[in-house]
Amino acid sequence: MSILIYAESAEGKFKKTAFELASYAKKIAGETGTTVTAVAVNVTDAFALGGYGVDKVLKVTNDKLKTFNAKAYADVIKQAAEKESAKFVLFSSNTDSLYIAPLVAVGLNAGYASNVVALPESLAPFKVKRNAFSNKAFNITEITTDIKVLAIAKNSFGLVESQASATEEDFAPSLNDADFSVKVESSEKITGKVTIADAEVVVSGGRGLKGPENWGMIEDLASVLGAATACSKPVSDMGWRPHSEHVGQTGKPVAANLYVAVGISGAIQHIAGINSSKVKVVINNDPEAPFFKVADYGVVGDAFEIVPKLTEKIKEF
Ligand code: FAD
Repeated sequence: MSILIYAESAEGKFKKTAFELASYAKKIAGETGTTVTAVAVNVTDAFALGGYGVDKVLKVTNDKLKTFNAKAYADVIKQAAEKESAKFVLFSSNTDSLYIAPLVAVGLNAGYASNVVALPESLAPFKVKRNAFSNKAFNITEITTDIKVLAIAKNSFGLVESQASATEEDFAPSLNDADFSVKVESSEKITGKVTIADAEVVVSGGRGLKGPENWGMIEDLASVLGAATACSKPVSDMGWRPHSEHVGQTGKPVAANLYVAVGISGAIQHIAGINSSKVKVVINNDPEAPFFKVADYGVVGDAFEIVPKLTEKIKEF
């Protein structure tokens, strides 16, 4: 028996979430006396996972998988789980796993819990803590099936390094045309920008910025912080920023280490998408803005004065 993790990568390198999942899996493996196997697609640095407790990496190399395809990826992970007789299959909770994990769970006849935020409360019966109601509450979910599929929320479990090393094994799952029934005709790569989902730091702007012409100062601050840029819903609705930057209940979730909100009031629907972020900094000229209630650091003042000064100060470091 083993614990299987799906180790996500971009351009051949593992994402931080792969190391988080490995650390989480290692902890369960320690308590259940099992091993940790990772399945990774088109990676060049498979050995790196050994440093976080993975015993074996199943390396899948396939040009057809260079473009994300939920059905094909689900098939790869299901076959890896069957090969390893995995009792747990772990994903990072994000947009991709939203598609893949349920398909894998159905294929393995497994129970599935998404948005898991902590190690299991108990292993028998198996109970885990999850975020619920747009992260406004927690619930404890019991899974009674033999195989369990879990999607772990980003940043909910720290990285735990290990001295061990991982063995590598080439794995060639059988994929057929039906796996590629959805075809991507073209895809455009945006270079030089950190994506919201992968960002450790996000700088976000709201209607308080008055118009798209003022976004330069948000981009300057994001640039010195190595951050992704984001925005509130009305900002993207008005076309000031692309919809891909809209965060919140109806937009993208943000689980960054640092979230800087500029000129955003802090409506419940916005907070719902960002409250998994660790440190929240709010800049707003209204001391009564609801965002201050959930802020770790708040600056009451005019964003047009504060943001450029903050950017200049950070440049000095
Ligand atoms: P406003 O509410 O207009 O706030 C602007 C803020 O800027 C104010 O607090 C003001 O004090 C401040 N400000 C003004 N000038 C300055 C200045 N010079 N310096 C500093 N601060 C200044 N919203 C989302 O963001 N994400 C969602 O996913 C989302 N989903 C929704 C789903 C539903 C079903 C509904 C009904 C609404 C949803 N909304 C969502 C909209 C949400 O309710 C708010 O209307 C929205 O978040 C407000 O955006 P805002 O804070 O940018 O604008």
